[in-house]
Amino acid sequence: MSSRVDIVVALDVGGTGMKCALVRPDGTVHHAERHPTLAARGPKAVTANILDVAAGLADRARADGLNPIAAGVAVPGVVDEERGIAVWSSNVGFRDVPLRALVSERLGVPATLGHDVRVGGTAEARLGAGRGQRHVLFMAIGTGIAAAHVVDGKAFAGAHGAAGEIGHVVVRPGGLPCGCGQHGCLETVGSAAAIGRRYAELSGVAGATASDVAARSAAGEQLAATVWREATEALADGLLTAQALYDAGIVVLGGGLAEAGEALLAPLRIALDQRITFHLMPRIVRAALGDTAGCLGAALLALDSLAETP
Ligand SMILES: [Zn+2]
Repeated sequence: MSSRVDIVVALDVGGTGMKCALVRPDGTVHHAERHPTLAARGPKAVTANILDVAAGLADRARADGLNPIAAGVAVPGVVDEERGIAVWSSNVGFRDVPLRALVSERLGVPATLGHDVRVGGTAEARLGAGRGQRHVLFMAIGTGIAAAHVVDGKAFAGAHGAAGEIGHVVVRPGGLPCGCGQHGCLETVGSAAAIGRRYAELSGVAGATASDVAARSAAGEQLAATVWREATEALADGLLTAQALYDAGIVVLGGGLAEAGEALLAPLRIALDQRITFHLMPRIVRAALGDTAGCLGAALLALDSLAETP
């Protein structure tokens, strides 16, 4: 028996960067670092990069006198958590990569593979803004929009690992084309990318971002206020569908758009309240863990898996 303190190697792999940490079993972070994903070099290079970074973290843990007991990796796209396979990802390029087995083999410890939004939602539900709540809907609004339904601290992946794609709920039938092939998806109106694009189109201000629109709207600019209102109304339409399906007790908003804080939350609460008929209104709050949620959630998933293994 080693007297060394246990630690989990955690990686949250995004389209451009990887957030990495050594996480203690109580959910606190011993060490954190960031690396570029190198997605432009293709999925093989990304996989090699993930394995190198994970091995580097395990070395760092041992050098600090810690004992790596497990590794948790979170990736975007469609993730088969049961089999540990990154099935598909548009921004990282994964096609059926058996990441769990590769990481476990390289590090010599049990590994788990999770979906970035589901593990982020798990962390927010257990350690963050949803703490103490049994029915949490986490919604990440950035370039795209995705959600995680977390009940009693466990996020539901669906039959194919593809649950939570609320960004592709059609809220404006016949509306703008979406990357998924459908028209009028929530993502085409309510995402940070859509807000910036729409405002740039109408105003002629090239390269406008959602946070520019939020600031201009707060300063009283009519056009920005209109674009912002269109987005919050679309988000409320999406949330109404989610509430009909999940009856969440609390909705936790994360991702870049949530950085607008009350400028987003306040109109969204009003717009959802106006749409609600028999459903019950959830609390709507901002995420609490920032961009460490993914890493913490990946570590939680790894610890859950250890606890479930006899
Ligand atoms: Zn879509």
